[in-house]
Amino acid sequence: MNEDPLFTEEQLEEARVLFARQATFMMGAVAIDGLPPGDLPEVAFAGRSNVGKSSLINGLVGHKGLARASNEPGRTRELNFFVLDDKLRLVDLPGYGWAKASKITVKKFQNLGRDFLRGRANLKRAYLLIDARHGLKEVDKEPMDAFDKAAVSYQIILTKADKMKPHEVEAARIKTEAAIAKRPAAFPRVLATSSEKGDGLAELRAEIMTTCEVRP
Ligand code: GDP
Repeated sequence: MNEDPLFTEEQLEEARVLFARQATFMMGAVAIDGLPPGDLPEVAFAGRSNVGKSSLINGLVGHKGLARASNEPGRTRELNFFVLDDKLRLVDLPGYGWAKASKITVKKFQNLGRDFLRGRANLKRAYLLIDARHGLKEVDKEPMDAFDKAAVSYQIILTKADKMKPHEVEAARIKTEAAIAKRPAAFPRVLATSSEKGDGLAELRAEIMTTCEVRP
């Protein structure tokens, strides 16, 4: 699905072993002064509600109930920290694009997310999840602007690729790569994934492992 593999078989295997280690929910932070210490490398995940963020986090660690798959705005207000065997953390950023949430509430989450991005030296990369069928929308510019502004390296991940034909996924990937070409902090390569089928997850694990410079 993602052509030109960037990782060797050995790296993919190492990443598989790493992500097979125990993943646990560490804490949810509702304010910037309630964050865990910045002692482990972190990668963060952002995306509109319902994009498949919980499913992707669960799929990466092979733990169905880790991130709560829920579309209720109230459930994803916090910054949620998951720790993988004391080696790295996965951070679930507050979702965006809710029709139901009030403007004030939305603002609050945006500020929390933004403060986090600005001040987190151990944040190695953010992943912005985009539904492969929808592509980038106006509402997705906000997190991209926030990443660019905070100079946080970020990569776009297309989700739910199983809902399209392979050539359509490839077209969506190329279109998205073209759309972000001029964004300063965006990683040029766009990944396509399916949490349902597992496509693209091995590569994403390897990427997180190398980005965080950890070994299993
Ligand atoms: P979140 O709100 O971003 O955390 O999204 P969820 O992970 O809760 O997923 C939202 C909906 O999309 C759920 O009904 C999932 O079953 C579905 N979904 C998530 N990932 C995939 C995928 O890779 N393929 C398919 N077909 N459906 C998916």
